[in-house]
Amino acid sequence: MNYAKKSVKDVDVAGKKVLLRCDFNVPTKDGVITSDKRIVAALPTIKYLLDNGAAVIACSHMGKPIATYDAYVKKQTEKGTDPEKITEEAWQKSLKKLSLKPVAARLSELLGIEVKMASDVVGESAKALAAELKPGELMLLENLRYEKGETKNNPDLAKALASMADLYVSDAFGTVHRAHASTAGVADYLPAVCGFLIEKEIGIMGKALADPERPFVAILGGAKVSDKLNVISNLLEKVDTLIIGGGMAYTFLAAKGYGVGTSLLDSEKLDYCKEMMAKAEEKGVKLLLPIDTVIAKSFPDPIDGPIDVETVPSNEIPDDMMGLDIGEKTRELFAEAAKSAKTVVWNGPMGVFENPTLAKGTIAVAQALADSEATTIVGGGDSAAACEQLGFADKITHISTGGGASLEFLEGKELPGVAALLDK
Ligand code: AMP
Repeated sequence: MNYAKKSVKDVDVAGKKVLLRCDFNVPTKDGVITSDKRIVAALPTIKYLLDNGAAVIACSHMGKPIATYDAYVKKQTEKGTDPEKITEEAWQKSLKKLSLKPVAARLSELLGIEVKMASDVVGESAKALAAELKPGELMLLENLRYEKGETKNNPDLAKALASMADLYVSDAFGTVHRAHASTAGVADYLPAVCGFLIEKEIGIMGKALADPERPFVAILGGAKVSDKLNVISNLLEKVDTLIIGGGMAYTFLAAKGYGVGTSLLDSEKLDYCKEMMAKAEEKGVKLLLPIDTVIAKSFPDPIDGPIDVETVPSNEIPDDMMGLDIGEKTRELFAEAAKSAKTVVWNGPMGVFENPTLAKGTIAVAQALADSEATTIVGGGDSAAACEQLGFADKITHISTGGGASLEFLEGKELPGVAALLDK
């Protein structure tokens, strides 16, 4: 896959109407935005376009609205909702909750300009506003997923979106792994380039995978091996050292013949783990697994509640105990590998980090990345949140804004929303 894609700086945007796909899928409570991080992250591309004479038609999805009343009835019936409460009014209310109006208001505050809010996606309101939009002006379409064709990559919707603009700019990395009308389909009808957010994501991660500075170390964690099968296999083709921690490590330990007690185990993936260990050996990749483990009698309940733990060597987990974090010796081993690397990619926590007693492994890895001189890349989701909560974000080279997208990137999969952009 080619990651060298044209960006807004490679094309002339002056006087153009630009359809800008953003990720404004922000958390809200009672219609109030609780974190505007994603809106703030989109500002550099928006400002660049406005300052360079483009008229910007921004668009995004928010949440998962149910686009048709029939589908709403079906879903609520399946959920066992009282039939009397399944009304057209209730459906409309559920849609309203996912309106992008609060985003328009916040954008307007942040930019200090008016943001014209359309009341639909490709209907009369959107078309009329887009037709009148002048260079340096910004408008926002309603939630793309109000249109049922969005997630189906419907060509009519893609065409309708494209018809309002002269150029398509994609800056929503969190959705590039999905072939939707606004992320991929629209590029069939307009010249398509990336904004600064995507340029950074594919620039740094693309280089790490295609031409990394070595040693290249990948650290994987999280719950299940089965969620990361292709990531493990693909990374074994690229890295010098692969580190596996978190819940998924126990299936590897079991595949080595260790007893893992009541730890998380993907019993159907034991052969897969054996294959991967053989592949590592064949490729000359160092595969590091936990050498000691923090164990407890049972999973913490509540997840952040008090818990009695002890640490044992990984091959001495008692039958009635479960591993919930990497032990201290493992923390040192993993940190050492991260510190001596030139490129480090990390995805997934080392233990049940939601619990302070079981967060030490995850914190140690975050700390090691923060201390490392290497190019450090953190996949989205839990590991990104951990780095941010610990205040390490500015010590990491790149924290990806897309959990699912960054994982598919590491799998070596073609990302439809990136493939659709013009090559440099
Ligand atoms: P993932 O969604 O695959 O990235 O996994 C994240 C989840 O894995 C977190 O909620 C962690 O609590 C959980 N996790 C990490 N280590 C373990 C473990 N040893 N046992 C059970 N769950 C774990």
